[in-house]
Amino acid sequence: MTKTDLLIIGAGPAGCSAAVYAARSGLQTIIAGGAMPGGQLLQTNDIENYAGFIQPISGYELMDNMHKQCKRLGVEITTDDIVKLEGEKPPFTLTASGGKQYQATAVVIAAGARARWLGVQGEEKLKGRGISACATCDGFFFKGKEVVVVGGGNTAFEDALFLAQICPKVTLVHRREGFRADAVTVQKVKNTPNISLMLNCVVDEVLGEESVCAVVLRNVLTQEKTRLACAGVFVAVGAVAQTAWLEGSSVEMDASGLIKTDEKQRTNIDGIFAAGDCTESEFRQAVVAAGSGAKAGIGAAAFVNLHR
Ligand code: NAP
Repeated sequence: MTKTDLLIIGAGPAGCSAAVYAARSGLQTIIAGGAMPGGQLLQTNDIENYAGFIQPISGYELMDNMHKQCKRLGVEITTDDIVKLEGEKPPFTLTASGGKQYQATAVVIAAGARARWLGVQGEEKLKGRGISACATCDGFFFKGKEVVVVGGGNTAFEDALFLAQICPKVTLVHRREGFRADAVTVQKVKNTPNISLMLNCVVDEVLGEESVCAVVLRNVLTQEKTRLACAGVFVAVGAVAQTAWLEGSSVEMDASGLIKTDEKQRTNIDGIFAAGDCTESEFRQAVVAAGSGAKAGIGAAAFVNLHR
């Protein structure tokens, strides 16, 4: 059993920011970051809207900087994947997938979110064989091939721009005419000649035996179906909080799995805080996650100083 003042679950911007504040307040701080510490930013290309960077920075570099900053301040970052949280008052017991246990006076849950899938026919069978939720990770395999991107948010638009650099044709499929993506990114897509938009359309089915060969699109206004040949389908339809592992704990969540917090990032359990995308339905931005992580770190430091 490893004892610590604070255990943070998640090494994305929320977890790292919480760690910076906690460590600078004198807390012994451990981040359990999972197999790939860094979260969704590791899959993001250019970030242009994180305050303080004059030029765009890659998600990987931003996370690498945050991890180095944490380590410089004495924070330990492990690859443990926490699967269980027990206790309703300190010390809390946390168990990692390999059975390793931690005892912590305070906990910050910053477990982030993962990609949401479409749930259509053919998707499960062809995942990893033409269907991907990460253009940055898998785009290279589709060099020179025609691909489809699904979604109307920043992820879909940025994925389309990224893929358009290596694919001859990118079709962005979105279920309505309005976009969630910001205006600058939408304009960049519209200015890219090898990206075409299929609006008011959804993917009804992904076709292919060994790998993807086409999608069946349905126009939601006319119900007309069309077949679009493609080698890859990049699904970018939002995210789901990574909180299933908390089922069975006393931490309150809403029906969609988001952890409920107050404005100080406190959960319903004194000493357990939550921050970032596992608490956020609307503003899933790195800078917002870092901000909520800072609040959680400050709160955790105050809590530990009262209880140790
Ligand atoms: P998002 O903003 O929630 O957008 C998801 C998109 O998928 C929406 O357009 C939604 O359509 C569509 N959608 C949802 N379920 C669908 C389904 N079953 N079938 C078809 N379409 C579906 O998600 P995101 O793009 O992943 O972005 C998440 C957050 O991260 C956002 O806050 C975003 O701004 C942020 N982000 C920021 C950056 C950046 O600033 N550089 C980059 C990436 C992401 P509707 O619009 O009709 O609901």
